[in-house]
Amino acid sequence: MRSDDDSWDITSSVGVTALGVAAMRAAETRRPDALFADPFAEPLVVAAGAPVWSRIVRGEFGPGEQEAAESYAPLIASIVARTCYFDAYFAAAEAAGIRQFVLVASGLDARAYRMEWPAGSVVFELDLPAVLDFKAAALAGYQPRADRRAVPVDLRQDWPKALLDNGFDPAAETAWLVEGLLRYLPVDAQDRLLDDIVALSAPGTRVALNTLLEQSEGAGERRRERAAHSAHLGLGIDLDQLFYPIEGRAHPVEWFDRRGWSTFAADPVEVLTGHGRAVTTAEAEEIGRHILMTAIRPGGDSTR
Ligand code: SAM
Repeated sequence: MRSDDDSWDITSSVGVTALGVAAMRAAETRRPDALFADPFAEPLVVAAGAPVWSRIVRGEFGPGEQEAAESYAPLIASIVARTCYFDAYFAAAEAAGIRQFVLVASGLDARAYRMEWPAGSVVFELDLPAVLDFKAAALAGYQPRADRRAVPVDLRQDWPKALLDNGFDPAAETAWLVEGLLRYLPVDAQDRLLDDIVALSAPGTRVALNTLLEQSEGAGERRRERAAHSAHLGLGIDLDQLFYPIEGRAHPVEWFDRRGWSTFAADPVEVLTGHGRAVTTAEAEEIGRHILMTAIRPGGDSTR
């Protein structure tokens, strides 16, 4: 159960979700037909010292575990789709001349280390202190490819001050990424977060995000099954216990539309099939509901 001031490290509560997502990126990276390479994902998972996640990365399932592993296929497909989509988002922002980037709730996202950033790029990473500390220790032997600035904050509180104190320039066009976060925030905290991002956004700034506001048929049942499978595998994660409800939550496309930003939504299934990845009907039914979107504030050099 969540509370307004709860906290976690990488192996507890919401922190485990960062580990799980990294494990899925590591598993994709191992595939011969991988759609992206995140060579830091597996070392991060190993460093967390949670052997069950390492087994999942390597696809090592014991008798009776295969069904549990397969129940994660739609979730993995959605993570792969969003990674491809957001990687392309950053490439487009760079090509448009943007050099300031913010990973909101960066978790174990290793983009600062794995992507080619143009000279002069600054990448801010916001997350809880214990998550950022873990990542800094696990990747201590590697050099980020941009000026990476870790900003330890609780995103339910006044985080803009900490970002500004770390050198964020609100007059510069920025590419924000809000990946895998919104449902872990209470509704009012989501509204405040988006308001704060807009307040810090110069014309030409972009925001990319994902969220899930609509359940597919039978989703509740599948969730319960997945929670049972998680328990069986010893993962200690039940998203239903960690997510805040959908009710009362703004649809982010409408939210940015109303503020005069240009919005572009993508279909995760098309992202995958566009990369040549087959998607089963069951996967399509589940991941097709995920919202993947980009919003661009009009004006600024990057939109010309
Ligand atoms: N964006 C990363 C990715 O896609 O790999 C991490 C996603 S993970 C599912 C969710 C992340 O949100 C975790 O790293 C967690 O610590 C962070 N998070 C959730 N609520 C937060 C809050 N109130 N303050 C700071 N970070 C938060």
